[in-house]
Amino acid sequence: MQLLLEHEHSFINGKSYQTQDMFAVLNPANQQTVKHASSVDEKGRMLALTGAKHALEQLRLVSAVQRSEVLKKWHALILSNEKMLAELMVAEQGKPLHEALGEVRYAAGFVEWFAQEAIRSYGETIPSQNTSVQLSTIKQPVGVVLGITPWNFPLAMITRKVAPAYAAGCSFILKPSEETPLSAIALAKLAVQAGMEAGAFQVLITTQPAELIEYYCQCAAIRKLTFTGSTRVGRLLLSQSATTIKRTSMELGGNAPFIVYDSANIAEAVTGLMAAKFRNAGQTCVAANRVLVEQGCMAEFISCLTTAVAALKVGDGMVAGNDLGPLIHEPAKVKVEGLISSALKQGAKIHYQGAAETGLFIAPVILTHVTPDMDIANTEIFGPVVSVITFTDEQQSLSFANGVEEGLAAYFYSQDVSQIHRVSRALEYGMIGINEGMISNPVAPFGGVKQSGLGREGAKQGLDEYLEVKYLCQKFD
Ligand code: NAD
Repeated sequence: MQLLLEHEHSFINGKSYQTQDMFAVLNPANQQTVKHASSVDEKGRMLALTGAKHALEQLRLVSAVQRSEVLKKWHALILSNEKMLAELMVAEQGKPLHEALGEVRYAAGFVEWFAQEAIRSYGETIPSQNTSVQLSTIKQPVGVVLGITPWNFPLAMITRKVAPAYAAGCSFILKPSEETPLSAIALAKLAVQAGMEAGAFQVLITTQPAELIEYYCQCAAIRKLTFTGSTRVGRLLLSQSATTIKRTSMELGGNAPFIVYDSANIAEAVTGLMAAKFRNAGQTCVAANRVLVEQGCMAEFISCLTTAVAALKVGDGMVAGNDLGPLIHEPAKVKVEGLISSALKQGAKIHYQGAAETGLFIAPVILTHVTPDMDIANTEIFGPVVSVITFTDEQQSLSFANGVEEGLAAYFYSQDVSQIHRVSRALEYGMIGINEGMISNPVAPFGGVKQSGLGREGAKQGLDEYLEVKYLCQKFD
């Protein structure tokens, strides 16, 4: 099947929608153009909205079982095209091929999960005080949904929104990141091939996201906004959605603490940290951002960690054996290098640094003598930098861990059962990895507290984000 043409365009009502406003989609590993894509125009955004409204009406006539069947076919098509999707992802995003393949399967996992959940959206009957009144609830689709996704997981961040929305009977307008539009278009083409109604999944490509989204935020016909991206943009979108009182889901930035207590199995803690820190070259919202190590195990921990980090290979994601691909673009590299310099100025020390890299590649770094007040401890690093803070006791570890505005993921390693219970309850985070560095799973609720967001994705909770509860009060004789 020919999924990708020389140029790519927005995908509206099941067809490519071309404009003359072209831009280059670049490969971050070599700065070469992967493809040219066109930005949607005003006519396109109106066609997309009209088509999504029409698809919503059509979906009212499609049963949950039929929607589940479409999702099952989409799941199978994603898996049978996994090589093409993974290679495309490496080309536009840069992650190593084995990670990209892992993401394709993770993305497919959401489609499979919501194919199963589509048929389990139960209402309820409620015991009434009055014997001649029946009280019940039914669940109905929210309506047309607008979704905005980032570049760091070009497929999974999309399927974990579009699959539950479709399972619930909603139509969806997606604006993927301008850095990774090609994966999104490929996914939408497969959805239509699986039998999804034209207009149920629109993909709008643009290099001017602010203008497009401001327009849609003012449209009352769009009943829900679901966003994954930075806290800064999430805050702006929440205020823009207030005009038309949209339902919102916000999956925002993280600043994960990774705590290693004296009782931890140090080898396992290092293995967990390598996964939690270096996946996607550190560009994940659940990346270990602050590594908090208890004084008593610091020497052993840092020695094991240094050996593991020194073994990492940096390079093009298409070359087998490479562990760390490039950062996404120049501003990302400038930001990471700036955080390292400011940490050094503020008193941190470089414990380990790999050989200097060119282009958008960056060598892994271990910083020690970091303190909680430094910029690097209060900013999402989004790069391969391990920033180590030491602490003296459990109370101090919790105060350091919770002393930030974000609350997405946290990790800790301990073999003390009482401590595991105490720390799990005390951490102000939406997701906790306990003696585990890889926590993402389509069957479990993903999301944050505090300024990391609102709502949950995946799991049974992920479907409710796209459903309204309607209460029925029926009198009878
Ligand atoms: P970003 O906020 O810059 O961009 C995200 C999306 O928003 C992109 O599609 C972008 O085009 C769009 N956008 C940017 N400005 C906009 C505006 N003014 N109006 C409307 N849309 C706008 O984030 P990013 O750099 O693409 O992604 C990295 C961020 O995403 C990190 O903070 C990371 O933690 C977060 N993230 C969170 C999760 C999660 O599940 N919580 C998952 C992945 C990434």
